[in-house]
Amino acid sequence: MERPNPLSDQFNAALGWLDTRHQPMLDLTIELAEINSGSFNAAGVNRVGARLAEYAREHFGLSAEVLPVTPYQQVNPDGSISQFELGNAIRLRQRPEAPLQLFFCAHLDTVFAIDSPFQQVLWLDDDTLNGPGVTDLKGGIAVLLNALEALERSPLAERVGWELLFNPDEEIGSIGSAPLISDAATRCDLGMIYEPCFPDGNLAGERKGSGNFSIVVEGRSAHAGREHHLGRNAIRALCDMISAIDDLNGQRDGVTINPGFIEGGGALNVVPDRALGRFNIRIAHPDDEAWFLAELEAIRARISDRDGIAVKLHGGFGRKPKLLNATNLRLLELARHCGAEIGLQLDWLPTGGCCDGNNLAAAGIPNIDTLGVQGGAIHSTDEYLKVNSLVPRAKLSALILLHLAASDPTLWKKEHSC
Ligand SMILES: [Zn+2]
Repeated sequence: MERPNPLSDQFNAALGWLDTRHQPMLDLTIELAEINSGSFNAAGVNRVGARLAEYAREHFGLSAEVLPVTPYQQVNPDGSISQFELGNAIRLRQRPEAPLQLFFCAHLDTVFAIDSPFQQVLWLDDDTLNGPGVTDLKGGIAVLLNALEALERSPLAERVGWELLFNPDEEIGSIGSAPLISDAATRCDLGMIYEPCFPDGNLAGERKGSGNFSIVVEGRSAHAGREHHLGRNAIRALCDMISAIDDLNGQRDGVTINPGFIEGGGALNVVPDRALGRFNIRIAHPDDEAWFLAELEAIRARISDRDGIAVKLHGGFGRKPKLLNATNLRLLELARHCGAEIGLQLDWLPTGGCCDGNNLAAAGIPNIDTLGVQGGAIHSTDEYLKVNSLVPRAKLSALILLHLAASDPTLWKKEHSC
């Protein structure tokens, strides 16, 4: 990546401006973290969205589109389905006619329920801020917006267009916002997503795919004393089913299954006629999906064959495995190069975790999905942000954007992927 002097002047101007942005990024992170915004708190998620729409008007002169997403569905123990309204997604678009189109994604929601006592930030030391979503990923939003502003201040900005999606449901699998991500994939060449980097600063490379399933077993109730023989125990059938599914662990490289929830029965003198189980599965390769679905159906058919027992399955694979194609590797190399320019030694590592980077990769868009802040203990009340990572991470993103803007856009087009 040789670059002549005028370019390096532009890069330095952007880096210099970001040096002045520590406090505004920190203030925005704290403001957003202290908005109660668990995924199922639609009003709270919308408050975060409204604040960001206002920010977009002030800092970019853009008016945000407010886009509703499909409600979240959950299977109940009685087999019925509950719907939960979610907050809206927020979308911004800038220069859709530019030769290179970038897609940015960051989520508005956190894992912390509306009644969680964890709703405020707390300083642990000068560099460490504890708070809900400070790292996952309100700090990432501050980094993204400031890196974008650094780009917009540069004449190079004219060479790239971008689309930014704030989605409301990443922490519950982005089922509702998935169509918005695949829609953006039809317009964009590369993706940048602001999930936190690993606690040591490294980026995620390949990611496993993930599926969530619910098993609803229907048996037949009977008096446990007088007519036990007439009952068909749904709990027993569910346990056999879960054991058989759990036994698939270890049968295929990179596939793990975690039965995570069971519920069923009631009074102890009644043979239970209902039981519900839920499990999560992680897969390493796209063809693991068909293998698993065939095994699962065979187990379901076997248990369902029992007299008086019916088994229904719900759910599916919300996240496909993210593999790295040649263009994605080139993008990661660019990130490593940009990191080196500001003294960050970056590598990328495979992970079993999933995020919107999976969806984007499944739609054919190379992406880096851990461009957010450095911190740790995410999804717990110990979540912390290393606040001194805000400026370096914003610089990393800004440099990637400026290098992309200065590069030949055809390098990043789909026909160059393999
Ligand atoms: Zn996240």
